Amino acid sequence: MISISDLRFHYSQGGFALHVPELEVESGERVAIIGPSGSGKTTLLNLIAGIRLPQSGRVVTKQIDISDLADGERRDFRIQNIGLVFQEFELLEYLNVLDNILLPYRINTSLELTKGVRQRASELAEMMGIGDKANRNVRRLSQGEKQRVAVCRALLAEPPLLLADEPTGNLDPTNKDRVLDILVEYAESKGSTLVTVTHDHDLLSRFERIIDFKQFYDIDPKSEVPPAEAP
Ligand code: ADP
Ligand code: MG
Repeated sequence: MISISDLRFHYSQGGFALHVPELEVESGERVAIIGPSGSGKTTLLNLIAGIRLPQSGRVVTKQIDISDLADGERRDFRIQNIGLVFQEFELLEYLNVLDNILLPYRINTSLELTKGVRQRASELAEMMGIGDKANRNVRRLSQGEKQRVAVCRALLAEPPLLLADEPTGNLDPTNKDRVLDILVEYAESKGSTLVTVTHDHDLLSRFERIIDFKQFYDIDPKSEVPPAEAP
């Protein structure tokens, strides 16, 4: 499902550099990514999703080399294949819960917003314990409730690949278990691949494999020192 080789990425500003020599995730696999804050976990998910492009190396997702696609094609590929749970949720503040869940269908002509899709959005909200808030503006939700809206939205189009960035980071223990149960059950029932960044060591037993980000991150403190200015 995901095949990365010799990937190098840096932002145009700041000294952060990511190097992933090799990373393979099989179709249907459930993988947890752990690692210190600032080590590039979110960056890697964005590279897998084609939101960012590497300076060199290959990111092949579902047998497509993301760098080979034009901007629009990359967006369509993402919409059709990838469910993303953003660390910062990325909800639209002026919409209610249901419309935020339906957002991918509202903004993409390649997805058709049918009655069945609306029904499924309501069912997902119910499963996540936010069904009673379906018509509430997301500004009036707790962080944990917003997080669950973001998870519903990622699952709505039934993607073969789910990338979840700390999807339980704002939840109490009961809701952590609930959200993870839903993600894992979804992945199992659809045979979807699940890649989850998490800091929750209690949840790691639910994954088949754990990737520790330390291996991709240069922890040499000297690497944090910006290069000297040329004279
Ligand atoms: P993690 O998710 O593991 O906490 P991130 O991928 O968010 O880490 O960030 C990795 C590093 O890249 C951090 O040092 C962060 O400050 C830096 N970074 C993140 N986004 C940007 C950006 N848009 N421009 C420049 N640097 C960034
Ligand atoms: Mg992050």
